[in-house]
Amino acid sequence: MSDAPETVRPATKRIRSEQDHSKASTKASENNENKEDHQDDDWLKEPPFSVGADRDGWETKWRESCWCGKVAFVYNDDPAGSKICHCEDCQRLHGAPYQHSCIFHKKNVRLDSDADPKWLGFLSAHGEVHPLSSTPTPLPRKISCRACGSPLMDEGRNMIMAFPPAFEWTRTHKEVKKAKEEDRKGNHGEEGDSGKGARKVQGFPEELKADCHIFYERRCVDVKDGLPKWRGHKEKSDLMKDDEK
Ligand SMILES: [Zn+2]
Ligand SMILES: [Zn+2]
Repeated sequence: MSDAPETVRPATKRIRSEQDHSKASTKASENNENKEDHQDDDWLKEPPFSVGADRDGWETKWRESCWCGKVAFVYNDDPAGSKICHCEDCQRLHGAPYQHSCIFHKKNVRLDSDADPKWLGFLSAHGEVHPLSSTPTPLPRKISCRACGSPLMDEGRNMIMAFPPAFEWTRTHKEVKKAKEEDRKGNHGEEGDSGKGARKVQGFPEELKADCHIFYERRCVDVKDGLPKWRGHKEKSDLMKDDEK
């Protein structure tokens, strides 16, 4: 098994250097001019996209990307909160036992300069169903990559809920080791994973960790992590034990 790939990875290089990000505003506006079909799309100039906006003073703290690498968002702050939802909408829409999300104000989010807006997909899943679209459907809506289908965020009026499993954080000991070697060679950031150079901490970042579970009664799996577990909405329902039915 030694020649088996460790994990399925797309060919697209998903890692970017600090330097690339500082060139972002120029690059984004150049990109804009070349993309005829998106020239009049004002929504792209607004958060959480802000394509072509001046990036002076912007410092990327986190980078989130889809599986194939065509769509990515960058964040300049830590989330204001984070929760795990076990409701059946989240289970179906994510094809997963639960959805983990982090809340950010839209002003702290931008479409990455390397991402092509034509791959953004919008889904309004409440009320009238609007099929997955390449142009915005009514808020609230889910944003995903239309190429690979990875969900990236739920967008509300002022806030977005991003999905931290799609954030670029260092998962393994091997990745940390490689990042340190690159650093020694002076290749800062080239194998980085958060948009600002290599994070040299292995494992899921503290800043993105969930603080509670909601709709825990509808769960597929028991989660014994010691966090508060609300039967329904946070602070509007009962608290449950980890294995309570
Ligand atoms: Zn994708
Ligand atoms: Zn949910």
